[in-house]
Amino acid sequence: MRVLLVEDEQRLSEALSYILKKNRYAVDTALDGISGQEHAETSIYDVIILDRMLPGRDGISILRNLRSQGIKTPVLMLTAKDTIADRVEGLDAGADDYLIKPFSTDELLARIRALGRRQSEVTQGDSLQAAALILHPMRGEVECGDSLIKLTMKEAQLLELFLRNKGQVITKDQILDRVWGIDSEVDLNNVEIYIYYLRKKLEPLPAGIRIETIRGIGYCLREVTDV
Ligand code: CA
Repeated sequence: MRVLLVEDEQRLSEALSYILKKNRYAVDTALDGISGQEHAETSIYDVIILDRMLPGRDGISILRNLRSQGIKTPVLMLTAKDTIADRVEGLDAGADDYLIKPFSTDELLARIRALGRRQSEVTQGDSLQAAALILHPMRGEVECGDSLIKLTMKEAQLLELFLRNKGQVITKDQILDRVWGIDSEVDLNNVEIYIYYLRKKLEPLPAGIRIETIRGIGYCLREVTDV
């Protein structure tokens, strides 16, 4: 699991990051609101831990911004205040859960595990859509108008990753990490091969989407209006 930690108190950030890594999470940290938002927009995380009061941009506006872009990564908000109005504001902005400072690390870990679980339940149940294309991840099927095509498991996982991160650039390393697992022996050439197969399967469909190659970086799925 990959976690983004946006917290401006350096010592707290270091302590949390240490604990998370010890519990086998991959952790990126940001110490202010601007870089926090940048990370959240450009990389893929399973959970975002977002402090409410941050220099640069506060947690609530970051969260509103992410949700308005369709980024649905579960967010655990950290807050120093506990009033009803604060809770409502955080939840309204799209927070999935929140923790009031100070909190115990056990509590934090339990909340993160719960959010991670919720995320994978959503992944298994839902169908995902972009333009005219609908993916049913569990069945590995793509629906588009009257057509229904079958994908292999890896193709379906790859397309799912793209659909969950529509419009975002996904690096080849992230694809390897998310589709094959970080410890896998598979190399980056496999990513290219699978992209090739996936494009070939989707090509005949009037889906209104395109998987763009971002040279030297990775790929990005976009909806196109002129199809
Ligand atoms: Ca703070």
